[in-house]
Amino acid sequence: MDAATRRLVRQRAHERCEYCRLPQAAQPFVAFHVEHIIARQHGGGDNPDNLCVACERCNAFKGPNLTGIDPETGSIERLFDPRHQLWGEHFAFRDPAISGLTPVGRTTVEVLAMNEGRRVQLRAELLARGEF
Ligand SMILES: [Zn+2]
Repeated sequence: MDAATRRLVRQRAHERCEYCRLPQAAQPFVAFHVEHIIARQHGGGDNPDNLCVACERCNAFKGPNLTGIDPETGSIERLFDPRHQLWGEHFAFRDPAISGLTPVGRTTVEVLAMNEGRRVQLRAELLARGEF
């Protein structure tokens, strides 16, 4: 992946995690990852259409996963695809937590541990400072 592609992906994401919406400015010492939505091991390439920005936590929890188990129904669901789906259709902020509105949203919140304690705490602090 070349530098121009990385720059394009970061600019397109407005320097935010495209899963949990954490702003890069909230973690200035840890550069957010340019992440493969469909991991290389599943045949995903470096085309910008398969790339998104992910914070360190979302990237670590997502790993190469494409699916997870919907905590409400127990069915296997795809994870959110920031390139082909709209965040607001699948998630909502319940300050400071993130709710999944659909099977895709619920599954992604669960697999990416979006409401893990320290992450919710950070979101609450950013909201209080008007930085989220
Ligand atoms: Zn994130």
